[in-house]
This record gives sequence, structure tokens and C-alpha cells, in this order.
Amino acid sequence: MSVATRPILPTPSLAAERLALLHRLTDGLPPADLYWISAWSAALAAQATRVALPTGNAPAEASNTAVPERLTVLYGSQTGNSRRVAEKLAERATAAGLNVRLLRTGAYPVRELAQERHLALVISSQGDGDPPDDALGFVEFLGGKRAPKLPQLKFAVLGLGDSSYPQFCAVSRRLDARFAELGAQRFADLGEADVDFEAVGASWSDGVLEKAREALATTPASASANLRPVALHAVHSALHGRENPYAAEVLENQRIVSRDSAREVRHLELSLQDSGLRYEPGDALGVWPRNPPALVNEYLRLLRLDGEQEVAHDGRRLPLSRWLTHERELTRLSRPLLAAHAAASGDAELARVLEPEQREALARLLDTDQPIDLLRRHPVAWDATQLVAALRPLTPRLYSIASSPKAVGEDEVHLTVAVVGYHAHGSEHLGAASSFLATAGDEQRVPVFVEPNERFRLPADGSRDIIMIGPGTGVAPFRAFVQERQAVGAAGRNWLFFGNRHFAQDFLYQTEWQQALKDGALHRLDLAFSRDAAAKTYVQNRLREHGRELYSWLREGAHLYVCGDATHMAKDVHETLVDVAVTHGGLSAEDARGWLAELLQEGRYARDVY
Ligand code: NAP
Repeated sequence: MSVATRPILPTPSLAAERLALLHRLTDGLPPADLYWISAWSAALAAQATRVALPTGNAPAEASNTAVPERLTVLYGSQTGNSRRVAEKLAERATAAGLNVRLLRTGAYPVRELAQERHLALVISSQGDGDPPDDALGFVEFLGGKRAPKLPQLKFAVLGLGDSSYPQFCAVSRRLDARFAELGAQRFADLGEADVDFEAVGASWSDGVLEKAREALATTPASASANLRPVALHAVHSALHGRENPYAAEVLENQRIVSRDSAREVRHLELSLQDSGLRYEPGDALGVWPRNPPALVNEYLRLLRLDGEQEVAHDGRRLPLSRWLTHERELTRLSRPLLAAHAAASGDAELARVLEPEQREALARLLDTDQPIDLLRRHPVAWDATQLVAALRPLTPRLYSIASSPKAVGEDEVHLTVAVVGYHAHGSEHLGAASSFLATAGDEQRVPVFVEPNERFRLPADGSRDIIMIGPGTGVAPFRAFVQERQAVGAAGRNWLFFGNRHFAQDFLYQTEWQQALKDGALHRLDLAFSRDAAAKTYVQNRLREHGRELYSWLREGAHLYVCGDATHMAKDVHETLVDVAVTHGGLSAEDARGWLAELLQEGRYARDVY
């Protein structure tokens, strides 16, 4: 598989028995212990440098009260990309002998900002220029009146975003300006990385590293032995990760909506045997897709190109058909590609869509069209090399995991996949990953990796109640949650809100939920089928109907989870929760928003949406 070219960590040269020993040792350990072992090993490896052995059983994220000279690397990540860039930077800085601590923004004690000397922040911006949930508190604190003056601080910000959205990198721009306003000095310019973030991320990190070495190497305190180790990659990602995925065998692949449903939703079971991959409920599985063969052929036909032709790009030489199948984004249209295509075709109509006042037209175009539509409607005679350079690199897709390893076994992982397929401009349009997964079977292994999602976890205290809101395939992680809570005998109650189009056709996992209700593993199930009656019913209707009880569960400490569509559903659900707190808690709308913001900050209200 071509995506397995550059491992994050090299495959260890451990003998099989030692590897097996490592698996046995780490099997079932909680994250804090895994971090401890990871840091301990890193410290052993770095004895020649200034990384010290951890002294306690605390995760590496814990803060020091006396802040030593060091580089603090922070990340605010929704899908794991910012985390990855920050981890890599921290890893390189540690290897260079610097004193580094790596923290997610949600775990950063903001009171330490006033003493912080060197801070590198990697943060993504979501659709409308919002920060990731995990960074809401940090962003709010920094923007607010309580933020301290920061004359002692040298900072660098890298933003990750998607240039197809008008608010590209809005959060990082805001924070970069705010740090400067508070008196801090940039030690590297603001970096802005698009969906294919790797190259910009690496060169920004080079700059940060260079400056950090200059500044910190001369600081006597950096030679102190009383340092905390950097939290390197969790042990489970050492063998297989994003850049060296595991080729998983498909154990089960079945349609779970009725034959007459207008949508196709599938349940997949994949084997993780001998992969070394471990996951927890709440995590996502990254899948490297392959583009549909018919689409690859259509490109070759339209452009009269030969799939066997070798194309050199970015230091690699591969046959064109391999570039198009494994390496290039063929099903998602992006603003940069549109711009390149408009320039190459000289088409005034296309160029107009890119003008700032055409935002809505652009958003519609990016939503419905695929790159092939551009090629058909506004022909450009790309040659093979130009085509590979113009198309974006393929990126993995993340699917919320629908199983608990305690229920299905550690060697298995389940997914719930809605197959993306629609008719536009006279032809069928498929989603790359969902169509790849829909047809994956005996012959076809699926390249996967685990994308941990620390923000979306069951309460550590099993006696807490949980409320889960997951319309459509957003229900996936809640199947994992309910399985897990049943497997560990958690005493808290579980309440699920599920919605989909039709009761008879689209009730995902219907028999499992009914069984769970019978077994006492699920305590409440409220359903909203949107297209069974003339007026639409959404999960929000059920939240309102049961508002009193919902509010009282939350007041008594329940944890609240939302998974699914970010653009409409998650926002509407949030507004409904505000209404519920106003109606049943007697709060003003402003206080209700503040209360929900606190729940988000505490991690008692968690969202897995995009
Ligand atoms: P879907 O298209 O989201 O539809 C599921 C149900 O939600 C339908 O009954 C739909 O009704 C209804 N709905 C539409 N607008 C809504 C709104 N504003 N508020 C509440 N309900 C609304 O289902 P899906 O195809 O299974 O897709 C699920 C979505 O979740 C996708 O966007 C997917 O990318 C995302 N997803 C995200 C994650 C994640 O973040 N980890 C995991 C799984 C899925 P109508 O269609 O009748 O209007």
C-alpha cells in the first residue's frame, strides 16, 4: 500500500519475543501508565540529552508550578492533525536536547501564561472560524479581560484549516494578533496550513526549532535535570499509525438499512489481529481510501493519458494510475484546485466564482461538484505531471468507532458507514472512502490506524449517568459506549437520542438497542424519524419534550455527548439545550450559554462532529 511509505516512528527492530512481551506488558493499561512507560522509554533513549526520567505516575501533561526554561508546545485539535504536528515538533525539539512540554490546550493551566517564555501553538479552525471544542476555554481566556500582559513571552502560531472555507485559519490569525497585542514577541511568523498540512507544518516547525535552539541552548536553566519528559506518541501508535497503516482484514460487511431505504448504511467488522493497535470507545479509526476504479479510468479517458506512464512528483516516481488511485484526491473539490483549474482553462465563469462576493456560489459548487465535473465542463489538457501536481494529496477519513474492545475483543473494530453517492451533472458521484469500504471484502484489506480522541471519553466514574445524542451514523460511538458500560458493569444510566429518516428502513442497530433495553444496558431510548410524517421530527423535538428530565439529569452530574453532522445538527442541538436550560432551569439565555460552555470546558459535554 503506497501510503505506508514514511513511518512516524521506524518499525522497531525488536525480536518477536520482545515485541510480544511489550504487548503483554502494556495490555489493558490505562492511558496514564502508557504515557509513563512511553516517557520512561524516551528518557532512556535520550539519556545523552537533557530529558529526565519521570518521577511519578502522573501523565506527562501535568503542570509544574515553578516554570523552568523550556519550550511549551500546545495544540488545539479537532481531528488530530494539529496534535500530530505539535507532537512531531515536540519530538524533534526533545531529540535536539531542548526541555519541552507538550500539552493540549484544554489541559493547559492558563494561569501559567504569565510566566511562559517560549510557546509554540498549533491550532485548527473549524468551518465558521471556530476553535476546536478542546480549545474554547483557552481562546476565550486569551481574548478576554483576564488575559495577562505577556512581555516575557516569545511565541509562534501555526494554523490548520481548509482554504475552501471563507474563515480559513481565522482562529490562529486571531490568536497570533492577540499574543502580539498582549506584548509578546513572535519568534516565528504565523504559519497557515491547508488540508494538506504536512509541508507547511514541517517548514514552520523547522523555523520554530531553529529559534528555540538559539534561545534555549543559551539558557542555563535548560540544563536542569528537574525536567518533565515530553509525551511522545502513545505506545499503541508506535507500530502502526497514520503514515504506516495496518492492512486490516474485513470480517463482516453488511447493509444495515432495509433494501428499500434510499440510503446505504453498512456495518463493518475489521480484524486488528497482530496490529498492535489499541483503541477505546470514543476513538476514531482512520481509513486510507482508494479512489473508485471507474473514476480513475474516466480521468485517463478524458485526458487521453496512459495509466502505466511513470510520473515523478515530490521526490517519488509512480505510475499515473497509482497516483490517481492511492495518492490524489479525486472526489473532493477544493478551492486551490478550482483556482488552478480556472487559471489553466482561462475560463472567466470559473474565475468569477472565486471572487469574495461569490462565497455562497463557491460553497454550493464545492458541496456538489467533484474535480471530474470541472474537467468535463471546463476542459483543460493537463498532462500527467501537471495533473498530479494540481490535484491535492489524498487524506485519510476518520470514522467514529462503533465497538468496545471489552465487548468484541481487542482484535476487532466495528464501523458504521453511510455510503456517499449522489447523481449530479448526469453522472453518479461516489465518496472515496465509503465506496471503498462498501465493497471491501475477502480480497480487499483496508489500511487503517487509530486516531485517539481524548475529548470524547466515557466518565471515569461509572456511576455517572450519560446522555447520548447521535442521529444517523452519529450513533456509532454510542454503540461502543453502551457496549463498554455493559462490559464493565457501570452503574450509571444510559440515555440515547437517535434519529434518522424512516423507522421501518433506517433504524440503525434496532435489535441491538431493543436487546440493550431489555438487558438494562440502555435505560432510555428516544427516537425521531424525520420523514415518517409530513412535519419533520428531529432529535431536538425529543430533547424539548423531555427537557425537564434532561435538565435534571445534567444538574445531577450526567455527561452529555453529541455525535454527527456539525454544520446543522450539532448547532441546532446546542441551541435546544440552551432553551432547555432556560425553560427548566430558569436561567437567562446568556447564563444558559455560559453553563453549557462550562460543561464543555469541564469535558462533561463532548462533541464528535464534523
Ligand atoms: P444525516 O444525513 O445526518 O441524517 C440523520 C437524521 O438527521 C435524518 O433524519 C435527518 O433528517 C436528520 N437531520 C437533518 N438535519 C438535522 C438537524 N439540523 N438537526 C437534527 N437532525 C437533523 O445522517 P447520516 O447520513 O448518517 O450522516 C450523519 C452525519 O454525521 C454526516 O454529516 C457525517 O459526516 C457525520 N458523522 C460524523 C461523525 C463524527 O463526527 N465523528 C460520525 C458519524 C457521522 P432529514 O434528512 O430528513 O432532514
